[in-house]
Amino acid sequence: MSYVFTPAPVVSVPVTGSALGFPVHRIYCVGRNYEEHAKEMGFSGREAPFFFMKPADAVLVVKPGETGSMPYPSLTKSLHHEIELVVALGKGGKNIKAADAHKHIFGYAVGLDMTRRDLQNEMKKLGRPWSISKGFDYSAPIGMITPAADAPDIASAEILLQVNGQQRQRSQISKLIWNISEVIEHLSAAWELQSGDLIYTGTPEGVAAVVSGDSMSAGITGLQSITVAVV
Ligand code: MN
Repeated sequence: MSYVFTPAPVVSVPVTGSALGFPVHRIYCVGRNYEEHAKEMGFSGREAPFFFMKPADAVLVVKPGETGSMPYPSLTKSLHHEIELVVALGKGGKNIKAADAHKHIFGYAVGLDMTRRDLQNEMKKLGRPWSISKGFDYSAPIGMITPAADAPDIASAEILLQVNGQQRQRSQISKLIWNISEVIEHLSAAWELQSGDLIYTGTPEGVAAVVSGDSMSAGITGLQSITVAVV
């Protein structure tokens, strides 16, 4: 097939221990999936999980030993960090039961769900979509994907974000309100999931603003850490 212009390149994320890249299909994100974060956003309790999306090319791949550069986005005065565990699917499906979810997981990565918080608050107030606050360019920094077999204890891992060396967010993956398998069950009831889908599983408490010149270091036990500079 020839095209009327050159198609965009496939977005891919490197995989630990492999020369092969993980080709990204879609990016799904879970909202308010840690209780203490739900509370800091003015909510409480276990509500049904809800989802939003980012475009695949919002990915900003950050390789080990390198500092990723995230341009400070336009139209905001409140760019917030949200560290999240990212689940990478190796196999798609619909109506996947939680008990079978592990069969669909390729691996895990550290991600940042960067958010224009002021615009998100405005859109919430107006009852409008969140896209402008969540799905902007470079809004999805991500580190290398570690295959699931090499990260056996992910459900009990610690998740930690520092800004300029100061701790901002620290929690445990075990505190997810909806765990990884349950998220996959709910998501796959709404969409047919595909190989290459990434799921940002939600952020713990401690979200706050960063400004140009700040350096974010994000880590999850057993996974490749990332450092991202806001430029
Ligand atoms: Mn988030």
